[in-house]
Amino acid sequence: MTTSSSLDNQTQIQGMNKGLCLCKVCRKINLTSNGSCTRCHAPLATRNYASIGQSWALLITAVILLVLANIYPITLITNRGVVTNDTIFSGTVHLVKTGMIPIAIIVFTASVLVPWLKIIGLAIYLTAISFNLPVSKKKLMVGFHIIEWIGRWSMLDLFVISITVALVNMGQLLDAKPAPAATAFALVILLTQLAAKVLDTRLLWDRLEPQNDAK
Ligand SMILES: [Zn+2]
Repeated sequence: MTTSSSLDNQTQIQGMNKGLCLCKVCRKINLTSNGSCTRCHAPLATRNYASIGQSWALLITAVILLVLANIYPITLITNRGVVTNDTIFSGTVHLVKTGMIPIAIIVFTASVLVPWLKIIGLAIYLTAISFNLPVSKKKLMVGFHIIEWIGRWSMLDLFVISITVALVNMGQLLDAKPAPAATAFALVILLTQLAAKVLDTRLLWDRLEPQNDAK
């Protein structure tokens, strides 16, 4: 009969301890001792330790760009020759003042809340791995799924910008264009997605597994 404790032990068996590893190119399970994949000859590695540094670098670049995206104008509007520009913040305030509360909420969520939450969340993960912080594994796992889920919603802001630009241009009296901050903002989305993508999440489970499995 299988007891719950022996089940627990079974779930903690890792390929690394059995001398096995997954080829990152073709996903074939190989013997780590082979050195390279028997199917596609790609070099084998049980864990990608360089991914922590790569992820930190992408995340820090994203923070710098997000600050720039908030300082510089995100839209340029020309009304009868008069050019006005809006930053993310002034644009949101403008939307509230003109009574477009639902759009203001979408813009605020997509361009302020989501990117900052994602960056803070990823920074917590990277700190937990880099400094071996005793954080509950379950909490981190739930958090990681939330980060992955909310990340894709930041695209919504670029969608709102493009819709606004299209609507304003249709009126003929006004001319609206995306400003430099829009490029910075698009790069923030790309870099945070990449920072989450390059990170070898197995490093997180490796370090947290033995000490926090019960929590
Ligand atoms: Zn392979």
